[in-house]
Amino acid sequence: MMTRQNTHRVRTLVTGGAGFIGSHLCDRLIATGHHVVCADNLLTGSYANIDHLIGNPQFEFLHHDVTNPLFIEVDEIYNLACPASPQHYQHDPVKTIKTSVHGSINLLGLAKRLKCRILQASTSEVYGDPLIHPQPEGYWGNVNPVGLRSCYDEGKRCAETLFFDYHRQHDVDIKIARIFNTYGPRMQPDDGRVVSNFIVQALQGKDITIHGSGAQSRTFCYVMDLVSGLINLMHTPATFTGPVNLGSEQQSSMLELAQMVLSLTKSRSKLVFMKRPADDPCRRQPDLQLARAVLGWDQTIPLPEGLRATIEYFRSNLSDQTQLDAQTAVCQPCQ
Ligand code: NAD
Ligand code: UDP
Repeated sequence: MMTRQNTHRVRTLVTGGAGFIGSHLCDRLIATGHHVVCADNLLTGSYANIDHLIGNPQFEFLHHDVTNPLFIEVDEIYNLACPASPQHYQHDPVKTIKTSVHGSINLLGLAKRLKCRILQASTSEVYGDPLIHPQPEGYWGNVNPVGLRSCYDEGKRCAETLFFDYHRQHDVDIKIARIFNTYGPRMQPDDGRVVSNFIVQALQGKDITIHGSGAQSRTFCYVMDLVSGLINLMHTPATFTGPVNLGSEQQSSMLELAQMVLSLTKSRSKLVFMKRPADDPCRRQPDLQLARAVLGWDQTIPLPEGLRATIEYFRSNLSDQTQLDAQTAVCQPCQ
């Protein structure tokens, strides 16, 4: 039987394709011969991220909100549509949860009609403030269902449930990636995430805003590595659904990250200590055994190298007008 795959380029839908990770995914897919349909409502993404793709015959942009149904023909779907920085997803929490829940229902319905594979960009936030380290995929998490981060955490958890129910009930071919903190060029300078905040503050000679004592830790994965992981996952056999963790295992405290950024930028910015946001996880670290075994994937770009590339990006793209908002909500100290 002839399929679209063996007669044409693979048509790939990337929702959230004008965002930070999505735009790098579009680039990689186009470079490897796909026709990409990027659907985005530009809530936190931007034309600037995809400007270089406009006019490319392998690329189509659809100004579309995933909370509405989408009627198109594609061969595979990556669902990345959702604001990802705490500042952005807490700005309109009801919209955030609708994006994860209604968006997943609409895209799973599309995948069901097209009988095509669909990958969900889930998150380490499904583990909440985890009580075991590192976190394996079998860990069910420690999530506050009624807090300020719940619109994102519970929205993504419900999206995972929907993916598995469409899989069990309607045989939809699903893949779930649990993405841990990812950074790199095209992060928005003012989106409040720690890597972009510290770099912008260091380059502008402003105070580096450490939440709490800075003892809380994260692991940081460079965006190019993450994109490779997503594509490897998309190409696994249908019997493998995930969820699978993608990220870096190398832990850094926020204090260590700040010091690294100061040293790489040769900035004289001072460190200032502020209240930690509510429900801010103390520590998060992926168990990557499954990703290594099934995807043959690992992180390749060490943090200092990825930070250098990100700093260069911000050096060339930063406007003097970029202002960062201070966060004020409160959280208990990390041990
Ligand atoms: P981002 O904010 O840069 O990208 C999200 C994109 O989705 C933006 O282009 C935005 O305009 C679009 N979008 C938001 N709501 C939409 C809607 N209702 N309809 C259509 N488009 C919509 O964030 P990112 O860091 O690139 O994250 C991409 C995905 O990866 C998200 O789903 C996020 O939850 C997930 N993720 C990211 C990280 C990370 O560290 N960057 C970690 C875990 C999970
Ligand atoms: N953080 C910080 N200073 C900032 C921004 C963030 O110390 O200016 C801290 C934040 O409180 C959290 C960590 O950095 O402990 C990572 O925050 P981010 O928003 O990047 O991602 P999260 O992992 O919390 O979703």
